[in-house]
Amino acid sequence: MVTAAPPAVPFLDLRQVNAAHADELKAAAARVIDAGRYVLGEELSAFEEEFAAWCGVRHAIGVGNGLDAMALILRAYIELGVLQEGDEVIVPSNTFIASFLAVSANRLVPVPVEPDDDTFNIDPVRVEAAIGPRTRAIMAVHLYGRLADMQALGGIARRYGLLLIEDAAQAHGAACRGRKAGSFGDAAGFSFYPGKNLGALGDGGAVTTDDDILAATVRALRNYGSAEKYRHARKGINSRLDELQAALLRVKLRYLDAENAARQGIATVYREAIVHPAIRTPVEGTPGGHVWHLFVVRSARRDALMAHLAGAGVRTLVHYPVPPHRQGAYPELAGLSLPLTERMHDEVLSLPMAPNLGGGQVERVIDACLSFPVP
Ligand SMILES: *Cc1c(COP(=O)(O)O)cnc(C)c1O
Repeated sequence: MVTAAPPAVPFLDLRQVNAAHADELKAAAARVIDAGRYVLGEELSAFEEEFAAWCGVRHAIGVGNGLDAMALILRAYIELGVLQEGDEVIVPSNTFIASFLAVSANRLVPVPVEPDDDTFNIDPVRVEAAIGPRTRAIMAVHLYGRLADMQALGGIARRYGLLLIEDAAQAHGAACRGRKAGSFGDAAGFSFYPGKNLGALGDGGAVTTDDDILAATVRALRNYGSAEKYRHARKGINSRLDELQAALLRVKLRYLDAENAARQGIATVYREAIVHPAIRTPVEGTPGGHVWHLFVVRSARRDALMAHLAGAGVRTLVHYPVPPHRQGAYPELAGLSLPLTERMHDEVLSLPMAPNLGGGQVERVIDACLSFPVP
């Protein structure tokens, strides 16, 4: 008799993630449908207050997505005369391309800087070396959910008079000494793309900041440049977090601490159990400083490892296969040589990671890794 193979371990089963809160999500959706107000209403105001309080900042402004959150921060600084077209923004060379796109969308110049090889996050020593006469800002990305070295970057930003902006799209809740991602820089952008640690059931994003003037500017820019109906002080855009997503996010925010803790527990098990000469597991974060949006291992034989895991019914992904400076969108950066970054993109592999990954699934991932043949 042939026994059926057990179902594959999915990379991330969003249906299941949201099924855990289905009753509350459906009640929240019903509340919005019945209220009859779908844009810029009470759900958004309530979510903005709750998310700001949770992050420990004065302001959160809901926007359409994470890319817009980052782009609107930079746009607001241009509107306020703090940044000017052609200014340089230091960005990590190994980030998701949205970090770069936010910079170039504002006719600012992204200057890629290589990461620390162990943490995947931008290297403060290299940041300082990259500062030139047109450098005006540093964009820190808390890649994979791990806080960048905000203390070192904050020191550099202060010494050189630069803005420090966080791309916190992967790091909701990552904390250091009681401070959370989104509260370290002058401003931060979050994404609520469904697969993020705090995920909507569609697109969404937010800007956080303690700066009242910046907050008011972003608030106007996301709504046609209008602070008052039919009065347009600036050439804004339409990028608002809608009532339905805000209501759903209010539900999911209440479970985020527990879900991040579950991710941290899975990461600890993975790190302790996956001991293999051809697989490098990520270094431990400072306690609470990593919320494990992704659990990224490295292997010189990455493609073979990926195929081996797939054969064992374990679905993995690569974040990211091609670095921004090698993308068709950035021919002007194609000449750069960024060896650490290029090697990382050849070696990284993201294992299944989700708050609701069961013990049996975690064990299957581990067993599949341990059975990867050593040549
Ligand atoms: C997801 C992500 C973004 C973009 O967020 P969207 O909501 O998809 O626009 C930006 N930066 C990083 C690091 C991300 O992971």
